[in-house]
Amino acid sequence: MTSDNPIIRIRNLGFSYNENHAALHNITLDIAHGEFICVLGANGSGKSTLAKLINGLLKPTSGSVEVDGLCTSDEHNVRTIRACAGMVFQNPDDQIVATRVENDVAFGPENLCLPAETIKQRVSESLEAVGMSGFEKRNTATLSGGQKQRLAIAGTLAMHPRVLILDEATSMIDPRGRKGLLKICRELHKQGITLIMITHDIQEALHAERILILDKGHLSVDTTPQHLLSHWRALATSHLELPFSAELITELNKQGFHFETTLTQSQLEDALCQLHSQR
Ligand code: ADP
Ligand code: MG
Repeated sequence: MTSDNPIIRIRNLGFSYNENHAALHNITLDIAHGEFICVLGANGSGKSTLAKLINGLLKPTSGSVEVDGLCTSDEHNVRTIRACAGMVFQNPDDQIVATRVENDVAFGPENLCLPAETIKQRVSESLEAVGMSGFEKRNTATLSGGQKQRLAIAGTLAMHPRVLILDEATSMIDPRGRKGLLKICRELHKQGITLIMITHDIQEALHAERILILDKGHLSVDTTPQHLLSHWRALATSHLELPFSAELITELNKQGFHFETTLTQSQLEDALCQLHSQR
Protein backbone atom coordinates (compact mmCIF):
# COMPACT_ATOMS: atom_id res chain seq x y z
CA MET A 1 0.00 0.00 0.00
CA THR A 2 1.35 3.48 -0.83
CA SER A 3 0.05 6.84 0.41
CA ASP A 4 0.56 10.53 -0.43
CA ASN A 5 2.70 11.81 2.39
CA PRO A 6 3.96 8.85 4.38
CA ILE A 7 6.33 9.15 7.33
CA ILE A 8 8.08 6.00 6.11
CA ARG A 9 8.52 5.27 2.45
CA ILE A 10 10.09 1.99 1.42
CA ARG A 11 10.76 1.20 -2.22
CA ASN A 12 11.97 -2.13 -3.66
CA LEU A 13 13.95 -2.74 -0.50
CA GLY A 14 16.36 -5.66 -0.46
CA PHE A 15 18.87 -6.51 2.20
CA SER A 16 21.57 -9.20 2.49
CA TYR A 17 23.90 -9.79 5.43
CA ASN A 18 26.07 -11.86 3.08
CA GLU A 19 26.19 -12.92 -0.58
CA ASN A 20 24.55 -16.31 -0.11
CA HIS A 21 21.38 -15.27 1.61
CA ALA A 22 18.98 -12.33 1.25
CA ALA A 23 17.17 -11.39 4.49
CA LEU A 24 14.66 -9.10 2.72
CA HIS A 25 13.38 -9.14 -0.86
CA ASN A 26 11.89 -6.28 -2.86
CA ILE A 27 9.68 -4.69 -0.20
CA THR A 28 7.58 -1.68 -1.15
CA LEU A 29 5.56 -0.11 1.60
CA ASP A 30 4.33 3.21 2.96
CA ILE A 31 3.53 3.91 6.58
CA ALA A 32 1.34 6.96 7.15
CA HIS A 33 1.80 9.49 9.95
CA GLY A 34 0.20 8.23 13.14
CA GLU A 35 -0.46 4.68 11.95
CA PHE A 36 -0.33 1.79 14.44
CA ILE A 37 1.22 -1.12 12.57
CA CYS A 38 2.07 -4.59 13.68
CA VAL A 39 4.66 -6.78 11.95
CA LEU A 40 4.21 -10.53 12.36
CA GLY A 41 6.39 -13.32 11.07
CA ALA A 42 8.26 -16.50 12.01
CA ASN A 43 11.73 -16.41 13.51
CA GLY A 44 14.21 -15.37 10.86
CA SER A 45 11.56 -13.88 8.55
CA GLY A 46 13.33 -10.49 8.55
CA LYS A 47 11.34 -8.46 11.11
CA SER A 48 14.33 -7.13 13.07
CA THR A 49 16.23 -6.50 9.85
CA LEU A 50 13.33 -4.38 8.59
CA ALA A 51 13.21 -2.46 11.89
CA LYS A 52 16.95 -1.77 11.76
CA LEU A 53 16.66 -0.59 8.16
CA ILE A 54 13.89 1.82 9.18
CA ASN A 55 15.95 3.48 11.88
CA GLY A 56 19.13 3.56 9.84
CA LEU A 57 21.09 0.96 11.83
CA LEU A 58 21.37 -0.98 8.55
CA LYS A 59 21.57 0.38 4.98
CA PRO A 60 19.62 -1.15 2.08
CA THR A 61 21.49 -3.51 -0.24
CA SER A 62 19.02 -2.44 -2.93
CA GLY A 63 16.07 -0.04 -3.07
CA SER A 64 15.51 2.71 -0.52
CA VAL A 65 14.07 3.66 2.85
CA GLU A 66 13.02 7.23 3.61
CA VAL A 67 12.01 8.43 7.06
CA ASP A 68 10.16 11.75 7.10
CA GLY A 69 11.60 12.49 3.64
CA LEU A 70 15.19 11.62 4.61
CA CYS A 71 16.96 8.76 2.86
CA THR A 72 18.64 6.35 5.32
CA SER A 73 21.42 5.57 2.80
CA ASP A 74 22.82 9.09 3.24
CA GLU A 75 25.16 9.03 6.27
CA HIS A 76 24.42 12.72 6.98
CA ASN A 77 20.78 11.86 7.74
CA VAL A 78 21.40 9.02 10.17
CA ARG A 79 21.46 11.06 13.40
CA THR A 80 18.21 12.83 12.54
CA ILE A 81 16.60 9.55 11.45
CA ARG A 82 17.56 7.78 14.71
CA ALA A 83 16.07 10.65 16.69
CA CYS A 84 12.90 10.52 14.56
CA ALA A 85 12.47 6.73 14.63
CA GLY A 86 13.21 5.42 18.14
CA MET A 87 13.65 1.74 18.72
CA VAL A 88 13.01 -0.45 21.76
CA PHE A 89 14.51 -3.95 21.74
CA GLN A 90 13.53 -7.32 23.15
CA ASN A 91 15.82 -7.25 26.16
CA PRO A 92 15.55 -4.03 28.21
CA ASP A 93 18.87 -4.83 29.94
CA ASP A 94 20.58 -4.13 26.62
CA GLN A 95 19.23 -0.58 26.63
CA ILE A 96 19.48 0.55 30.21
CA VAL A 97 22.67 2.56 30.58
CA ALA A 98 22.43 4.18 34.03
CA THR A 99 21.92 2.92 37.56
CA ARG A 100 19.36 5.57 38.47
CA VAL A 101 16.05 5.76 36.59
CA GLU A 102 16.11 9.54 35.97
CA ASN A 103 19.69 9.43 34.67
CA ASP A 104 18.78 6.63 32.30
CA VAL A 105 15.90 8.58 30.76
CA ALA A 106 18.07 11.74 30.61
CA PHE A 107 20.86 9.95 28.70
CA GLY A 108 19.41 10.47 25.19
CA PRO A 109 18.38 14.14 25.62
CA GLU A 110 21.79 14.86 27.20
CA ASN A 111 23.43 13.51 24.05
CA LEU A 112 21.29 15.94 22.06
CA CYS A 113 22.91 18.68 24.23
CA LEU A 114 19.53 20.07 25.27
CA PRO A 115 19.32 22.66 28.09
CA ALA A 116 19.11 21.18 31.64
CA GLU A 117 15.58 22.49 32.19
CA THR A 118 14.31 20.85 28.96
CA ILE A 119 15.97 17.56 29.91
CA LYS A 120 14.30 17.63 33.33
CA GLN A 121 10.93 18.23 31.71
CA ARG A 122 11.41 15.43 29.18
CA VAL A 123 12.44 12.98 31.91
CA SER A 124 9.36 13.84 33.91
CA GLU A 125 6.88 13.66 30.98
CA SER A 126 8.41 10.45 29.57
CA LEU A 127 8.22 8.67 32.93
CA GLU A 128 4.65 9.85 33.27
CA ALA A 129 3.76 8.50 29.80
CA VAL A 130 4.85 5.00 30.84
CA GLY A 131 3.25 5.19 34.28
CA MET A 132 6.54 5.48 36.17
CA SER A 133 6.32 8.91 37.80
CA GLY A 134 7.79 8.56 41.29
CA PHE A 135 10.47 6.08 40.15
CA GLU A 136 13.02 8.84 39.39
CA LYS A 137 15.48 7.97 42.17
CA ARG A 138 15.09 4.17 41.97
CA ASN A 139 18.03 1.95 41.13
CA THR A 140 17.38 0.44 37.67
CA ALA A 141 18.67 -2.96 38.84
CA THR A 142 15.76 -3.24 41.29
CA LEU A 143 13.04 -2.91 38.62
CA SER A 144 10.88 -5.80 37.36
CA GLY A 145 11.11 -6.91 33.71
CA GLY A 146 7.97 -4.95 32.81
CA GLN A 147 9.22 -1.82 34.59
CA LYS A 148 12.58 -2.11 32.82
CA GLN A 149 10.84 -2.34 29.48
CA ARG A 150 8.70 0.71 30.35
CA LEU A 151 11.88 2.53 31.33
CA ALA A 152 13.45 1.61 27.97
CA ILE A 153 10.37 3.10 26.26
CA ALA A 154 10.60 6.25 28.42
CA GLY A 155 14.25 6.64 27.40
CA THR A 156 13.21 6.48 23.75
CA LEU A 157 10.23 8.82 24.24
CA ALA A 158 12.52 11.40 25.86
CA MET A 159 14.08 11.84 22.41
CA HIS A 160 10.64 12.93 21.12
CA PRO A 161 10.54 10.35 18.32
CA ARG A 162 7.77 10.57 15.75
CA VAL A 163 8.00 6.85 15.12
CA LEU A 164 8.35 4.27 17.88
CA ILE A 165 9.52 0.79 16.84
CA LEU A 166 9.06 -1.96 19.42
CA ASP A 167 11.02 -5.08 18.40
CA GLU A 168 9.43 -7.96 20.35
CA ALA A 169 9.49 -5.63 23.33
CA THR A 170 6.87 -7.63 25.20
CA SER A 171 8.39 -11.08 24.70
CA MET A 172 10.40 -11.15 27.93
CA ILE A 173 7.76 -9.80 30.29
CA ASP A 174 4.84 -11.39 32.13
CA PRO A 175 1.19 -11.08 30.96
CA ARG A 176 0.46 -8.19 33.34
CA GLY A 177 3.50 -6.30 32.12
CA ARG A 178 2.39 -6.97 28.52
CA LYS A 179 -1.06 -5.56 29.15
CA GLY A 180 0.52 -2.45 30.67
CA LEU A 181 2.74 -2.00 27.64
CA LEU A 182 -0.13 -2.41 25.20
CA LYS A 183 -2.08 0.21 27.11
CA ILE A 184 0.88 2.59 26.81
CA CYS A 185 1.04 1.86 23.07
CA ARG A 186 -2.64 2.67 22.60
CA GLU A 187 -2.18 5.90 24.57
CA LEU A 188 0.85 6.94 22.50
CA HIS A 189 -1.07 6.12 19.34
CA LYS A 190 -3.90 8.43 20.47
CA GLN A 191 -1.32 11.16 20.93
CA GLY A 192 -0.35 10.80 17.27
CA ILE A 193 2.92 8.87 17.41
CA THR A 194 3.50 6.35 14.60
CA LEU A 195 3.86 2.89 16.14
CA ILE A 196 5.51 -0.16 14.62
CA MET A 197 5.12 -3.14 16.88
CA ILE A 198 6.96 -6.34 16.03
CA THR A 199 5.57 -9.42 17.69
CA HIS A 200 4.92 -13.15 17.49
CA ASP A 201 1.65 -12.75 19.27
CA ILE A 202 -1.49 -12.46 17.18
CA GLN A 203 -3.54 -11.27 20.17
CA GLU A 204 -1.18 -8.31 20.47
CA ALA A 205 -1.33 -7.68 16.75
CA LEU A 206 -5.10 -7.31 16.94
CA HIS A 207 -4.55 -4.02 18.83
CA ALA A 208 -2.95 -2.48 15.75
CA GLU A 209 -4.74 -0.77 12.84
CA ARG A 210 -2.78 -2.59 10.20
CA ILE A 211 -0.93 -5.88 10.15
CA LEU A 212 2.00 -6.88 7.96
CA ILE A 213 3.31 -10.43 7.71
CA LEU A 214 6.86 -11.16 6.63
CA ASP A 215 7.51 -14.59 5.17
CA LYS A 216 11.17 -15.50 4.45
CA GLY A 217 11.97 -11.86 3.79
CA HIS A 218 8.93 -11.22 1.57
CA LEU A 219 6.04 -8.99 2.57
CA SER A 220 3.32 -11.61 2.18
CA VAL A 221 0.33 -9.90 3.82
CA ASP A 222 -0.71 -6.26 4.34
CA THR A 223 -4.12 -6.24 6.00
CA THR A 224 -6.25 -5.11 8.95
CA PRO A 225 -7.00 -7.05 12.17
CA GLN A 226 -10.58 -7.52 10.90
CA HIS A 227 -9.31 -9.32 7.81
CA LEU A 228 -6.32 -11.11 9.30
CA LEU A 229 -7.98 -14.48 9.52
CA SER A 230 -8.78 -14.61 5.83
CA HIS A 231 -4.99 -14.91 5.48
CA TRP A 232 -4.93 -18.16 7.41
CA ARG A 233 -2.66 -19.83 4.88
CA ALA A 234 0.00 -17.16 5.47
CA LEU A 235 -0.56 -17.44 9.22
CA ALA A 236 -0.07 -21.19 9.06
CA THR A 237 3.07 -20.88 6.91
CA SER A 238 4.52 -18.44 9.43
CA HIS A 239 3.89 -20.88 12.30
CA LEU A 240 2.10 -18.19 14.26
CA GLU A 241 0.15 -19.42 17.21
CA LEU A 242 -3.50 -18.55 16.70
CA PRO A 243 -5.80 -17.49 19.54
CA PHE A 244 -8.51 -20.09 20.28
CA SER A 245 -11.30 -18.27 18.37
CA ALA A 246 -8.98 -17.89 15.40
CA GLU A 247 -7.98 -21.57 15.44
CA LEU A 248 -11.64 -22.40 15.34
CA ILE A 249 -12.39 -20.04 12.46
CA THR A 250 -9.41 -21.37 10.57
CA GLU A 251 -10.78 -24.90 10.98
CA LEU A 252 -14.25 -23.75 9.91
CA ASN A 253 -12.81 -22.08 6.81
CA LYS A 254 -10.94 -25.24 5.91
CA GLN A 255 -14.30 -27.01 6.02
CA GLY A 256 -15.78 -24.64 3.49
CA PHE A 257 -17.10 -21.77 5.61
CA HIS A 258 -16.01 -18.30 4.64
CA PHE A 259 -15.41 -16.18 7.68
CA GLU A 260 -13.38 -13.24 6.54
CA THR A 261 -13.30 -11.37 9.82
CA THR A 262 -12.52 -11.92 13.46
CA LEU A 263 -15.74 -13.15 15.03
CA THR A 264 -17.53 -11.75 18.03
CA GLN A 265 -18.66 -14.14 20.75
CA SER A 266 -22.20 -14.41 19.37
CA GLN A 267 -21.02 -14.89 15.77
CA LEU A 268 -18.75 -17.62 17.04
CA GLU A 269 -21.68 -19.32 18.75
CA ASP A 270 -23.76 -19.10 15.55
CA ALA A 271 -20.89 -20.56 13.55
CA LEU A 272 -20.57 -23.47 15.97
CA CYS A 273 -24.31 -24.15 15.81
CA GLN A 274 -24.18 -24.03 12.03
CA LEU A 275 -21.30 -26.50 11.97
CA HIS A 276 -23.03 -28.77 14.45
CA SER A 277 -26.29 -28.79 12.48
CA GLN A 278 -24.41 -29.95 9.36
CA ARG A 279 -22.93 -32.97 11.09
P1 ADP B 1 13.42 -11.98 12.71
O1 ADP B 1 13.62 -10.71 13.47
O2 ADP B 1 12.14 -12.04 11.94
O3 ADP B 1 13.60 -13.20 13.58
P2 ADP B 1 15.93 -11.30 11.45
O4 ADP B 1 15.69 -10.00 10.77
O5 ADP B 1 16.67 -11.27 12.74
O6 ADP B 1 14.55 -12.07 11.58
O7 ADP B 1 16.74 -12.25 10.48
C1 ADP B 1 16.43 -12.41 9.10
C2 ADP B 1 17.47 -13.33 8.45
O8 ADP B 1 18.75 -12.71 8.49
C3 ADP B 1 17.65 -14.66 9.15
O9 ADP B 1 17.91 -15.64 8.18
C4 ADP B 1 18.85 -14.46 10.04
O10 ADP B 1 19.53 -15.66 10.27
C5 ADP B 1 19.69 -13.50 9.20
N1 ADP B 1 20.50 -12.60 10.05
C6 ADP B 1 20.03 -11.78 11.02
N2 ADP B 1 21.03 -11.07 11.60
C7 ADP B 1 22.16 -11.46 10.94
C8 ADP B 1 23.53 -11.10 11.06
N3 ADP B 1 23.93 -10.18 11.92
N4 ADP B 1 24.42 -11.70 10.23
C9 ADP B 1 24.02 -12.64 9.32
N5 ADP B 1 22.73 -13.02 9.15
C10 ADP B 1 21.82 -12.45 9.95
MG1 MG C 1 13.84 -10.35 15.56
